[in-house]
Amino acid sequence: MDVRVLRRATGVVDVVEVEEYLRHVVPAEVYAGSWHMAMLEAQAIAARTYTLHSILHPRHADQGGDLCDGPHCQAMGAATHPRTDAAVAATRDMLWTTGDGAYVSRCGRPDCPLCRGANGHNGQTWTGRMCQWGGEYICTTAVAAKQEPSATWVLARYYCGGALVSRTVLDGVQDERGKTAQGDPATATPPAWALRHATPTLVCIHHSVTTSDHAAIDAIARYHTALPPAGKGEPGAAYHYAVDATGGIYQINDDMLLSWHGHDGNVGIGVCLLGDFTNAPPPEPQLAAAAWLVARLKQRWGITMVIGHREAGRAYTECPGNTWPQWRDRVAGGGT
Ligand SMILES: [Zn+2]
Ligand SMILES: [Zn+2]
Ligand SMILES: [Zn+2]
Repeated sequence: MDVRVLRRATGVVDVVEVEEYLRHVVPAEVYAGSWHMAMLEAQAIAARTYTLHSILHPRHADQGGDLCDGPHCQAMGAATHPRTDAAVAATRDMLWTTGDGAYVSRCGRPDCPLCRGANGHNGQTWTGRMCQWGGEYICTTAVAAKQEPSATWVLARYYCGGALVSRTVLDGVQDERGKTAQGDPATATPPAWALRHATPTLVCIHHSVTTSDHAAIDAIARYHTALPPAGKGEPGAAYHYAVDATGGIYQINDDMLLSWHGHDGNVGIGVCLLGDFTNAPPPEPQLAAAAWLVARLKQRWGITMVIGHREAGRAYTECPGNTWPQWRDRVAGGGT
């Protein structure tokens, strides 16, 4: 996909491939050499989302441009940097689902952990935008607390929820520009970054390392949504289902809600067995309920891939416990 960049100095419009364009935007917007990689990734995702939004709603249409190369839209320079190149590559094609990707140096919002209601850009308070210095502050604060910050912490914080989604599931964005250019009012509000749902293609099994009863679900939800360093700063409880020790099944999210259980580009349904299975496998009622649920999900969605969290691509975890190989086939095997 290409973006049309209006060069303010000359009035010339350059057509640039989006990922190549971002290599020149991110280091012009933030400190490539010193800022945390998670913040550089958040900046890359925000800038990409804003670029796609601008392709659908060109800001310089009368001059044939989607965006200009200055701070009016997004700063773009000649230089690239290895760290921002890595951030752009690591987030390739990834967009944020809420907001339009707009950002500001300092937001001034009362709920921003850095700004605390003061010193917003131009003396204003900016809502609905990622705060660049605030995002860096969140990352460095997390590091000081010996946590590993992520771009999703920053993005969910400032765009009030949302999730990462690959542009590849947003087929048709390119066509939207043609429709918008023809003035079709039906496409004036494109669905691209409102989309938070996709057809699931795998089931990912977790354990909670909590008590085995349903009260643990509230604690999980609080932990997932609390801001770092107290929690993970995610927009909601990450699991789709929880299964307790008595075999009770609780649905937490819609099956199609995009969450954090992907692997090799798949969209996952997260099933959490409440309890800690490091040393002993789940009790029989819990295993039976989990097996029934997984079989039903496989049948409903035509899913063939069931993994333990530890088998997901970027996982550095023993989840769902060291005993997983003993009960893996019981839970994963049925219903095909
Ligand atoms: Zn502009
Ligand atoms: Zn701020
Ligand atoms: Zn897990």
